[in-house]
Amino acid sequence: MEELVTFCKTRGFVYPSSEIYGGFAGIYDYGHYGILLKNNIQKEWMKSMVQKRSDVYALDSAIFMHPTTWKASGHVDGFNDPQVDCRTCKARMRADHLLEEHGIDADKATLEFLNEHLDALKKEGKMKCVSCGGTDLTPARTFSLMVKSNMGSPLDQLSEENVVYLRPETCGGIYLEYKNTVNSLHPKLPFGIAQVGKAFRNEIVARQFIFRTREFEQMEMQYFLHPDDMEISYEKWHEYRWQWYLDLGITEEELKWVGHTKLVFYASKAYDIKYHFKCMKKFDEVEGIHARGNYDLTQHSTFSGANLEYFDQARNEKFIPHIMETSVGLNRLMLMFLDHAYTKEQVNGEERIVLKLDKRLSPIKVAVLPLMKKDGLSEKAEGVCQQLREKYMCEFDASGSIGKRYRRQDEIGTPYCVTIDYDTLKDESVTVRDRDTMEQERIAIKDLKSYFASHVGDCV
Ligand code: ATP
Repeated sequence: MEELVTFCKTRGFVYPSSEIYGGFAGIYDYGHYGILLKNNIQKEWMKSMVQKRSDVYALDSAIFMHPTTWKASGHVDGFNDPQVDCRTCKARMRADHLLEEHGIDADKATLEFLNEHLDALKKEGKMKCVSCGGTDLTPARTFSLMVKSNMGSPLDQLSEENVVYLRPETCGGIYLEYKNTVNSLHPKLPFGIAQVGKAFRNEIVARQFIFRTREFEQMEMQYFLHPDDMEISYEKWHEYRWQWYLDLGITEEELKWVGHTKLVFYASKAYDIKYHFKCMKKFDEVEGIHARGNYDLTQHSTFSGANLEYFDQARNEKFIPHIMETSVGLNRLMLMFLDHAYTKEQVNGEERIVLKLDKRLSPIKVAVLPLMKKDGLSEKAEGVCQQLREKYMCEFDASGSIGKRYRRQDEIGTPYCVTIDYDTLKDESVTVRDRDTMEQERIAIKDLKSYFASHVGDCV
């Protein structure tokens, strides 16, 4: 993990936030290559979830929502994690994670269950602070993950009723816009609404780089359906989402499905896709796929008084649709793709670091490199780069030896390098080098556009 964190910082992917002020725990900023990579992951998700389908609509709902939203959803009362504090070094820990490290399934466990098992382990001398190793730990207590804001007039702030929260998940906005979507787009069931956006959680522990942060982005899709269609839709989405990972180069061996052992009372099915993070030496969740019943719309209907029923003409039936959701963290996916792609190889006795990203995800598609900075090679290369920029994210690099420049591009995952040399000035051709095979071929400048159209496709 440390190596990947350093790599991301020194190569302009991810920086710790507010570093010049000593940092700000659990928050990260994305540099030039990081944001390009993140945008490309998001584009691939939107393409698969919206563009390629006729039954899913896009949405961008606001981060701030009416305070009652989170009462109706149960977040104000129940979106908690169990916290344990070290009295010696003040470190904060998740009680359920502490027990899981001792092989005890503590997912969604009650405080009584957690404290009973924590006490037993304490008596055996097995319960230690993960930070200082001390044994003076507090009992578990609930800690709300909701992030409060002070939005509104000072008078509003006096009342606990009116606390405005930063949304802890993006799907809340989807439920609230379900009615407008039906009334404006007239979709037939089953249909989905997909959105990408920021979410905020006061995570007790945010120590695993961009895997778990307090500000992050989610890509969520809520699929509205008749309960009779839940089983078949769930199976289809299960398969569809799994295939998305494989299509972008993640292998079957790196993935697994894990069913939730404890379901919330309204859910009928819940599976997570777990990826094997080499940087954490373990499988962990990247995406959840949940059959949620009609709890969400029913709650919002009850709390708001709005009628959220759907009239299904084909069935001649009025009902509150049930929901199947797919929910994935964009930043967590970025860590997954970096983890998967980060490769070290021996080439001619030297180590080469190469990001073997799927070309669609690569931040830069083509780097244009003049062999020398003199004799008009730079000017020629700049001209070629400018032409390709019309279509692709390109980079012009003239500094350092050509070998070093190839390595630099390998490290940020650029699939192709175009080199302009003295022959280019004579015959208008260039060398194109492939990142993975390192093979080179000679291509006429006039054919570069069609070459990249077939090798990189339409992605920018
Ligand atoms: P976890 O068990 O890892 O805390 P969760 O089960 O609470 O996650 P959900 O509420 O189902 O997660 O959120 C859906 C997805 O959003 C997760 O699969 C994950 O990819 C992402 N996610 C959730 N919390 C965070 C976070 N703090 N930082 C980054 N991504 C997150």
